Amino acid sequence: MDLYLDMAVQFSRGCPFECDFCDITLMLGRRVRAKTPGQFLAELQALYDLGWRRNVFVVDDNFIGDRQRARQLLLALVPWMRERGFPFDFMTQTSLNLAKEPELMALMVQAGFNRVFLGVETTDRRSLASVGKRQNLAVDLDQACGAIAGAGLMVMAACILGFDNEEAGAGQRFVDFARRNHIPDVFATLLHAVPGTALYARLSREGRVGPMEWEKTMGSQTSLCNFTPTRPQAALVKEIIGLFETLYEHRAYIERLADHLAGMPPLPAAQSRRRPHPREVMAVASVVLKTGLLKPQRWRFWRQVFRGLSRFPSRMRQFWAGCLLAEHNQEYLESIRGGLLRRLAEEGRQPPRMKQLLHD
Ligand code: SF4
Repeated sequence: MDLYLDMAVQFSRGCPFECDFCDITLMLGRRVRAKTPGQFLAELQALYDLGWRRNVFVVDDNFIGDRQRARQLLLALVPWMRERGFPFDFMTQTSLNLAKEPELMALMVQAGFNRVFLGVETTDRRSLASVGKRQNLAVDLDQACGAIAGAGLMVMAACILGFDNEEAGAGQRFVDFARRNHIPDVFATLLHAVPGTALYARLSREGRVGPMEWEKTMGSQTSLCNFTPTRPQAALVKEIIGLFETLYEHRAYIERLADHLAGMPPLPAAQSRRRPHPREVMAVASVVLKTGLLKPQRWRFWRQVFRGLSRFPSRMRQFWAGCLLAEHNQEYLESIRGGLLRRLAEEGRQPPRMKQLLHD
């Protein structure tokens, strides 16, 4: 267990929404099924008994797919966590309508949730409408992210490029959105049509789905669209690389991280007292060594650390975790850039029929 960053548990399956590219509803359906609070707490107790005391990822694709059941679980989870001195930090994935649920957000924070991964996907309303992401159209994206962070849940955002009729600059518009909302972590991919989804069926009817060798890399951040997009693949690759380069740049990332944490309420006192695991101490030591002593930007880094101690002292654990990610992002950026460019070049070597499918 020492080698893991987090442990995974699942509360519910299925999601009531109808985003046409989504394979979750394809595999798990739109009717949400959930464990009982008792079942879920028994699984947490097993982790607790094994000695786990760190992050727990609640891997539901939409934790609030059934808000009533999520609420029932949280009402049971809050006292369970309190009685054990808040042994876990939870993160999960939810739809953006969470922003309209102040009671649920408050309960999540009380239960020890401190991060949520949100399917923002794009800031272009026309693209959201074209893929049936109605829950995102029903909110103002900036206000929704602000409300969720303001409630005490750190926002991680998913971004997709390559929707039909997307206008040039979608990547930059997402960068602007992340900057405005001080969102440090953005998980961006090019759109993939997964067999069985409504998107795949439509693209197949339109004769736009390519051969399935592309399946091998589908879902990875280094894969191209596995269909003929309405924009040239090369333009999409250029935009997504630009997005990664801007958002993962060390200084910009740490600044967004610090501003995001400063905009959040202090962590409830009982939750900030958890003793760090030796692995976490080692991770912080490695950040201090690499960024704080060896890198040219070390002075800027220390300024952010000291500012953090006065701006968000209770959230320094999240700050250190973000700094570690910032280190990792530098290497990851290289592998994404290399992978995408390699695939684009490979695609240039495809037989003429395939070339025909691609706009350039
Ligand atoms: S909200 Fe998320 S899980 Fe639900 S259908 Fe849309 S993409 Fe899939």
